[in-house]
Amino acid sequence: MSTRQFFVGGNFKMNPGTTQQKAAIIDILNNAKLDPTTEVVIAPPALYLLPLKEKVKNGISLSAQNSYVKSTGAFTGEISPSQLADAGIPWVILGHSERRTLFHESSEFVAEKTRVALDHGLKVILCIGETLDQREAGETAKVCESQLQAVVKVLKEEDWSKIVIAYEPVWAIGTGKVASSAQAQEAHVDTRAVIAKFVSPAVASSVRIIYGGSVTAANCRELATQQDVDGFLVGGASLKPEFVDIINARQ
Ligand code: PGA
Repeated sequence: MSTRQFFVGGNFKMNPGTTQQKAAIIDILNNAKLDPTTEVVIAPPALYLLPLKEKVKNGISLSAQNSYVKSTGAFTGEISPSQLADAGIPWVILGHSERRTLFHESSEFVAEKTRVALDHGLKVILCIGETLDQREAGETAKVCESQLQAVVKVLKEEDWSKIVIAYEPVWAIGTGKVASSAQAQEAHVDTRAVIAKFVSPAVASSVRIIYGGSVTAANCRELATQQDVDGFLVGGASLKPEFVDIINARQ
């Protein structure tokens, strides 16, 4: 097993509907026995970041689901990276496939946002991953490499200690069709090779690469046995009690 600290993120997306439902999830996390060696980060909708920051215990920290490429100004509806940092929110998810697809964010734009987020002191969960068509065309490694290359171009070697890469095949997100542990391991190895080649072997061996896409209590243990799977980014199951089992996948 690697020395990289296991990392589990909960991406609540634009869920759940009510404050009570959110409180129930937080109660479960606060009262559960969580593996103390796992770094746990939850990403509720932006509106709930500050109240939940006051409520979470057990060493859990908070992440925004997005941040903009500028820190202040006339950008109605956007989330400022400097304001997140000022509010004590340490993490932000960038490049999620829902942002890339539904909001037409290019890899270059994701890279620029990553640069700006780091410049304001945030840490970044950087999402990459291929569509089903791309996988079937044998382009998985190429797609992940090009998504990473855009970021490699704008970061310095030392910036990578503030990045967690989330490999999230688009066909697995929210579909119940989880990648096999072999598919995840292969993509993570390829991703690490890209980092070794274009950043450095030292960064490649220390950067955490987590898997996302239909992770559940039932499949997390098998995935977690893989050498290069350093944790998970969890959507649907992060809103359920089984999120605790996913956090504890290595126990
Ligand atoms: P899922 O989502 O676990 O619901 O598939 C993962 C994600 O979008 O990060």
